[in-house]
Amino acid sequence: MNNHVGRKKTKLIKLGTLGIGGDSPVSVQTMTNTKTEDTDSTIAQINAVASMGCDIIRVTVATCEAAKAIKMIKETATIPIVADIHFTSEFAIASIENGADGIRINPGNFPVKDLNNVIDAAKYNSKIIRIGVNAGSLNINIRKRYGNIDGLVISALNYIKIMEARNFHNIKISVKSSSIIETVLAYRGISEKMNYPLHLGVTEAGTLITGVIKSSIGIGSLLLDGIGDTIRVSLTADPIEEVKAGLTILKSLGLRQFGAEIISCPTCGRTDLDIEGLTKTIEKMLRDVKTPVKVAVMGCIVNGPGEARQADYGIAGEKGMGVIFKKGKIIKKVDEANIINVFFE
Ligand code: SF4
Repeated sequence: MNNHVGRKKTKLIKLGTLGIGGDSPVSVQTMTNTKTEDTDSTIAQINAVASMGCDIIRVTVATCEAAKAIKMIKETATIPIVADIHFTSEFAIASIENGADGIRINPGNFPVKDLNNVIDAAKYNSKIIRIGVNAGSLNINIRKRYGNIDGLVISALNYIKIMEARNFHNIKISVKSSSIIETVLAYRGISEKMNYPLHLGVTEAGTLITGVIKSSIGIGSLLLDGIGDTIRVSLTADPIEEVKAGLTILKSLGLRQFGAEIISCPTCGRTDLDIEGLTKTIEKMLRDVKTPVKVAVMGCIVNGPGEARQADYGIAGEKGMGVIFKKGKIIKKVDEANIINVFFE
């Protein structure tokens, strides 16, 4: 049996130079939490997440000044910019005209009467529109009639229909809920009914630990179904944490190879070394490595090297000393005090 995650092939669209859908790798995105008008802080945050491996950044456009700021942000940004618009079509058009690579609108708070002008601006400038539906802001009539799961799907399909009627197909879809079950079922539902790329996420997932767990279950389940072209882990935390979590989800499923992947044992009564401390040190030292490498930190020599034979390199502990192994084979014994130095040599 094949142990690779298969993917549904969706329509390829281009956000700037980045491919989304088709055969493109699943991309990771986050959102700045600065005031977009404060270009210095926004650019600094974009640079920080881009250096961590973020592929797409979304910025809030809640004022005319924010839409104008996109022009300056675009001059230095190395990753595509998506403008997040609620309510005001003028901000959507201004963002497009100032160089945003795409915009996100939410059918629950975007006046449908203004949609045609925005579609035309996006079409004229070859930009992407994400139809980003959220359960919390679902149109009240749709929610009452269809409930959250079908309501998310129907709301997205209605907007797709309007865009297709104007011959616009640069579309990306998300149907998020803060409930994992609603999220997964809505994405499965929409995926059966259309072929545009999907932006996955569990919305308002919470703080670091809770949010990462909820997002990993929701996003992970869908990716295992072959659904999803770009992901955002929504956390009440620094956007850098969202990028780290997103990349870790993709690395864990073999969908992206990026930087170091650490395998460490849970420790037990056989553990003779400070595995938690060693793992944290190694993780820190490998933080900036971009080349894919799997490193194992295991508590004992009896099980460690064998259990972690899929790792490229590893350390296993013994009382007062450790062994260094490569693909499960022990290559060196070393005193506890020198493990880290010898390992990195
Ligand atoms: Fe315990 Fe060894 Fe397994 Fe770690 S690798 S959990 S120390 S048996």
